[in-house]
Amino acid sequence: MRVPILIPNIFNYPFTYESNLKLRLGDYVQVPFGKAKAIGVVWDEFEKNKNKNYAMKQVIKKFEVPNLNKNTIRFLNWFSEYNMIPKGMALKLVLLSSKVVEELPKKNYESFNNKIKTNEFQLSPQQKENLKKMNISNQKFRVHVLQGVTGSGKTIVYFEALKKILDKGLQGLILLPEIGLTGQFEKKFIEFFGFKPAIWHSAITKKNREIIWSGIVNQKINVVIGARSSLFLPFKNLGLIIVDEEHDQSYKQDEGVIYNARDMAISRASFENIPINLITAVPSIETFKNVKVKKYKISKILNRFKNASLPNYEIIDLNKSKLPSKSWISQEVIEKVKKYLKKKDQVLFFLNRRGFAPFVFCKRCLKKYLCPNCSINLVYHKHNKNLLCHYCGYKENLKRRCNNNDTCDFIFSGPGVERISEELKKIFPDQKHIIFSSDTMNKKDSSKILEKIVNNKISILIGTQLISKGFHFPNLNCIVVVDIDLSSQGHDLRGAEKNLQLYHQLSGRAGRTGKPATVYFQTYNLNKNMIVDITNKNPDIFLEKELEIRKKNNLPPFQRFISLILSSNDERKLQKNSLEFKNYINGKLNSDVLGPVNAPIYKIRKKFRVRLLIRGKKTLKIQNSLSLAIKNFKFEKGIKLSVDVDPINFN
Ligand SMILES: [Zn+2]
Ligand SMILES: [Zn+2]
Repeated sequence: MRVPILIPNIFNYPFTYESNLKLRLGDYVQVPFGKAKAIGVVWDEFEKNKNKNYAMKQVIKKFEVPNLNKNTIRFLNWFSEYNMIPKGMALKLVLLSSKVVEELPKKNYESFNNKIKTNEFQLSPQQKENLKKMNISNQKFRVHVLQGVTGSGKTIVYFEALKKILDKGLQGLILLPEIGLTGQFEKKFIEFFGFKPAIWHSAITKKNREIIWSGIVNQKINVVIGARSSLFLPFKNLGLIIVDEEHDQSYKQDEGVIYNARDMAISRASFENIPINLITAVPSIETFKNVKVKKYKISKILNRFKNASLPNYEIIDLNKSKLPSKSWISQEVIEKVKKYLKKKDQVLFFLNRRGFAPFVFCKRCLKKYLCPNCSINLVYHKHNKNLLCHYCGYKENLKRRCNNNDTCDFIFSGPGVERISEELKKIFPDQKHIIFSSDTMNKKDSSKILEKIVNNKISILIGTQLISKGFHFPNLNCIVVVDIDLSSQGHDLRGAEKNLQLYHQLSGRAGRTGKPATVYFQTYNLNKNMIVDITNKNPDIFLEKELEIRKKNNLPPFQRFISLILSSNDERKLQKNSLEFKNYINGKLNSDVLGPVNAPIYKIRKKFRVRLLIRGKKTLKIQNSLSLAIKNFKFEKGIKLSVDVDPINFN
């Protein structure tokens, strides 16, 4: 018998093998591949290009592992086509290592005891009503959006929904955007369900990864809480997917195999024919549109849990306060903050910039510190005493000698969180401070720091965007946005949406236990519509407006964007190839091809980068004709092409 076997590597089609074994679709097998042996999966279709003439090899053996579901295989085929990723690479996301298949049966899942205990959580009438709308007994595919203000207890509602699925003996997947700091979330899960969920992200140990993988296949593990990649676990009996914080941009995988995990989760649910719930305080523009056209159902929780009120907003006009040089906190804010500290409330200063200063130069010798590998400034990190590139990780010391052997006289331009922290230590010397950023919180002792914050042992937090992600700090009742202009995130088409999401999430950290809370926005720019949108408690008004703008300008979600990034060490070759490639695909795609233009960050990791942008109708035809064109175009050696369907970043 001939069988198509897909091997997890760069090929976009299965290879044909001969076998006398009884093989079913989705079986894991070992096959000879070149001079080595490889693991593969029995696929659903033979390679279409049949005129290849070679001796057919025999399948070596079949592994005693429950097979990959037919629907999962169909999902992977579609995933590969949509994102323009070879089928073999899509399979690689499922099959993390050969060891996991070979040594499957001897694993120990005892730490994930799946028995659900009764708990003491009680839903409010609003939560109950939302659960009812979400939990229609129909187990088929449908997308439900649960929109609730921050702190309204959305988690407990979807936990209840998940419980009903688990009671039926099905498996559940909860996707979270920021998985490094799941401690608080895991605790809540255990309080609710009485057992430990399997946690899946890139930093878990290989051993745990293997245990979870086989536990999923053997249906010994029923719930996974995971980052993007957990979407590719080979669930045998998946009954529900939940995407928490569905609007979060970190669902987009930007490097390597590029895809949007939220969108792919919806598609997997559709292939598996199971329900999916999207959870958010402010939906993404795509989700908002799909609700409007009634593709998705929605229910809303309008009040915070136990009727805690949302924080108030206040704008502080920095033009009036005449800040002395090298200081960023106005006297007006200091006075307000004092009142909160006096009440033993926690205060958060927000600035989305890591390090001490984003730019350093010497005013004597005029030396600027730029990254040698990237076209970007090095950021001064005072705590680590070095200059760091946030793109490639390049580090160097601040050299204290000018060319003519004088001592350098440095100008540190602008603030980062370390600098704000220094200023605050001078203003509030008796308070305990902590910086909350990926430099300080992605370490092993971060759970201890979190505990200290929760127990109000730290009164002043200085945080980057990381702190906006779903934390529950009961004593945090005052937030100061150091400079709303500085914190905005550059100039891309999603800039306004990103800002709205960010400040909404951020404000949501304050006043969660019902005490009065305020968010102060310091700014030099009072006329900004952004502030009006952010301080409006009904985000739908902004989303309506934004959707109109997108429609008028032919932007996503009304059109499909595909971004092509060509990169090379050789600048001239790159420019030449980009232009030739553009001319080659122009007219073949039935859509606009914009560019080539140099990328805003022209050089990253020593590679020059040029962008093309394709804009067309939302059909798979664009991907198909583009794939064909790419296959037929001969790039010169040393040119790399990366394809980003539905891009979010335009760096
Ligand atoms: Zn760099
Ligand atoms: Zn100098």
